[in-house]
Amino acid sequence: MDTKNLAHYKTLLERQKEELLREIASHAQKEDFGSDVDSSDEATDEAEEAGNRLAIVESLKEDVGEIDSALEKIRRGTYGVCERCGASIEEEVLTTAPESAVCRSCKKK
Ligand SMILES: [Zn+2]
Repeated sequence: MDTKNLAHYKTLLERQKEELLREIASHAQKEDFGSDVDSSDEATDEAEEAGNRLAIVESLKEDVGEIDSALEKIRRGTYGVCERCGASIEEEVLTTAPESAVCRSCKKK
């Protein structure tokens, strides 16, 4: 992959990471709950909601991890190479999901 494309994907990845971190921060700010719980039903709802939020944050963190490893690959010069078969990852795949670690056919498997 040429350096111009690499720079383009790097920008995309960094922007995506920023957005994810912002989203994680906004979920973290809502941690304060339960001070006005007056029924057990409500407590269950809030516990469930907190659980969902935790799941969302966990999945956001996983996305950040994927982006970090893609950025690391850019630094090492191995970005855009499929982790499973070693082929070049299709441009369309990288354009829709620049953090992709595998090519289209490997993703399908
Ligand atoms: Zn592959």
